[in-house]
This record gives sequence, C-alpha cells and structure tokens, in this order.
Amino acid sequence: MVRYYLYQIEQTKHLNAFLEVFEEEALVKAHALDTRIKNGEPVGALAGVVIGIKDVICYKGHKVSAASRILEGFTSLYSATAVERLLAEDAVIIGNLNCDEFAMGSTNENSAYGPVLNALDNSRVPGGSSGGSAVAVQADLCMVSLGSDTGGSVRQPADFCGIVGLKPTYGRISRYGLIAYASSFDQIGIFGRNIADVARVLQTIAGPDGYDSTASKEEVPDYQERHNKSWKIAYLKDALFHPGLDEEMKEGYVSFFEELEAAGDSVTAADFAYLDYVVPAYYVLTTAEASSNLSRFDGVKYGHRTPLKNLELADFYKKSRSEGFGKEVKRRILLGTFVLSAGYYDAYFTKAQQVRRLVVDKLSEILSQYDAIIMPTVPSTAFKIGEKADDPIAMYLADIYTVLANLAGVPAISVPLQRHSNGMPYGVQIITKQFSEANLLSIADHVMQLRKVTPV
Ligand code: GLN
Repeated sequence: MVRYYLYQIEQTKHLNAFLEVFEEEALVKAHALDTRIKNGEPVGALAGVVIGIKDVICYKGHKVSAASRILEGFTSLYSATAVERLLAEDAVIIGNLNCDEFAMGSTNENSAYGPVLNALDNSRVPGGSSGGSAVAVQADLCMVSLGSDTGGSVRQPADFCGIVGLKPTYGRISRYGLIAYASSFDQIGIFGRNIADVARVLQTIAGPDGYDSTASKEEVPDYQERHNKSWKIAYLKDALFHPGLDEEMKEGYVSFFEELEAAGDSVTAADFAYLDYVVPAYYVLTTAEASSNLSRFDGVKYGHRTPLKNLELADFYKKSRSEGFGKEVKRRILLGTFVLSAGYYDAYFTKAQQVRRLVVDKLSEILSQYDAIIMPTVPSTAFKIGEKADDPIAMYLADIYTVLANLAGVPAISVPLQRHSNGMPYGVQIITKQFSEANLLSIADHVMQLRKVTPV
C-alpha cells in the first residue's frame, strides 16, 4: 500500500498537496509491520492505514511550518497527541500536507509554498485551509488525512473535493501539538472517502489528554456502530433561502430533503435569525485570538529571523515578523489587534462574544428538539483559482455555513451529495449537539447510503 501511494504521489506532484513525503520512513514502517504480521505478532487497529497530516500538526523529528515562511526549517520537538495515538495503533504517516498559512483561508492560495490544485479541475481551488489534506484523499494519495477546522477548514475543502470531512465537538480531540490559530475554535478534523474510515480514526484519536485541559473527559463511545432510526431533522430556512446560495444547489437541497422524508425521516424548517451575524462574529473573535497566539513568532524563539543587523528590539520584532508572515496572516493580526485595543474592545470583541452566546443558545435550543440540523456546507462549488483572491470580504462571506459549528463548539460533517451542472461536486452539512458524534456519523452514513454517492 505504501508503494502504491508513493507512486500516486509521484504522479500527481503538480497538485502540490504534499509539502514533504516521508518516503523512506513509511517504507521501513510498512516492512516492519509486514514482518510482524507474518510472524503472527499482534498489530494495532490502524496497521497499514496510510495517513497524511496537515502541516499544522506536530510530528516529532519532522518539519512543521504551518505553510509559513516564519517557520521555515523548524522541526517538531514532540508529536501531537493525535499523531501519538495514530502511531500507537500502527498507522503509517506518509507525509505532511499543504494548507493556507496558519490555517487562515478558504482556498489554499495563502500557502507560502504555493496553491494546491483541485484534482477534479486543475483551474479550481480545493478549498482551504486544509486543501492539501482534502486533495490527498480526493486524488487517492493516502487513505485518510488529518486537517484542522477553526471555521470550516475540514468541511469546506471536503465539500469542494467531493469527499467526507468531519469536525468533531470542540474538545473531542486533543489540540496538543496542533499549531494554534484561534484556540477556542480550533479542532483537529478527519478527511476520508467513507464514514467507516473517518469513524475508525476518530475512535483512535478522540478522548481526554493530560496535555490539553480543553480536551474533554467525556467518555468516548463506540463510533463504529451505526444507529438506524427515523431521524428528526431540522433545516434552517435562513440558510436554505439565503441570497448567497447558488440557485441550482438550493434546488438540489430541496429535493434531497424530500428524499429524506420519503426514506422515513422528518425534515422540518427551523428559524435561525442570527445567520448574517456569524461571519462577523467569527472574524472578530478568531482574529483576536490569532493576534495573541501568533505573538510567539517573534524571530527570537522560532523560525525566521531578520538578517538585518544592529536593530533596536522593537524593530527586530517588526522586521522578523514582516518578513516571515504572509499578507493574509498580517491582515488578521492587524484586525485582531484592532478589535482588542482599549478603545474598541467593547464595540467589537465584547459584542462578538455576546453574539457567540446568542448563537450557542439558539443552536442548542434547536438541537434539543431535533436529532440534527442539515444545511449546505458552502454556498457555491469550488472557486476558480484567483477568483476571490483580491476580495477578502467575499472570501470570508463564503464561510457563512461552516463557522456556526465552531462558534457553538458542536460537531459537524460534510458528506458529498451530488454534482453541479458545472461538473463540480457539492456536499451537505450535518450538525448535531455536543459529543453526539455517534449519531452524527450514523446520519451521515444514512445520507451516503441513500444517495449512493461514491466519493470523487
Ligand atoms: N476559512 C476560514 C478562515 O479563513 C476557516 C479557517 C479554518 O477553519 N482554519 O478563517
């Protein structure tokens, strides 16, 4: 299997999905596993499962850069808990995957190492920020991959690439060893071609962790088991009839809801009046958290340091950071610093926290009455490369359906639904209440069975 994937990776270099391939090491591991199997020795639950990881997840002794120049040449000093758990079950990690710099973006165009191409149409983006992770699964360059999802970075590229992308409950998977973007939103997520694979990986990496106090102590149930019942599903009218949603996709969702009803589920309209506030609240809060998190990259402790000599300390920081960070990251640090500044704190940061509270309450009210909320993942299919690159606001607004689950900390998944007449796939997003991944995966599986969608 490792040889197969190495061959596949070699054939698709132009997609730019991998930043580094751990060729030798993966082969050595695979041989060792083969020997253990031949000798009848026990092997882990993920023996032979070939996995790629996003370049924001630490793997001891391997480079990690968050696709940023500021961390060029930096090597992980320890492994993320998720990585440790994969390795403990004998998974083979085949390489690290391209992404938007510090996971900020929706197209993978913000990587310091160049864009990733959508394997289905090379003139289009794969989505972001976990674009490399999505394409690696889409183009069959590994079996499953890890990404991170702060505002949709797993679900949105899964949607654009025609595969499955899961963002678990905030705290379900330890964030230890995940480079922080916005700590109260960040969560490691999983890409796969089917629900069983995603469930198996979640089973392995979920659970409490002494290294991350925000990793929940909530028991990890059996995620392999599927529950079959008639599901009570809500759709958000405000999402389905949003003017930003592609007309053809809207019709696709309406007929899909009818199919669910015909299959015995109930699909009911629910009101969610806050939809137009979620993107502003998300971008105020995440940039605030990012401006604080990214202050550690100062040219002293990590990565890039300005070559200019004899600078005052403040100038040294400024130069190192100006040279090391890309445009979008700088924009967000500036924005975050602004919303946290004394004169504007209440008007922006406090206000956004209040919006977050309203969103959490409203969403949990709906989720106490229904098994799940179902809605689009993204308002359109994959953008053309460059299409939104000069218009950050338009880019941010396309996150309207994904940021909700991060604001509320609830689990959400995107599963492929069908093809648009433009040839690109699009998916449907399912959201359930906190720590109900077992139901979420069952409903997602039900949707995939119903539609018999084979991932791209
Ligand atoms: N597109 C969103 C952003 O740019 C999502 C990023 C993420 O989930 N890491 O912030």
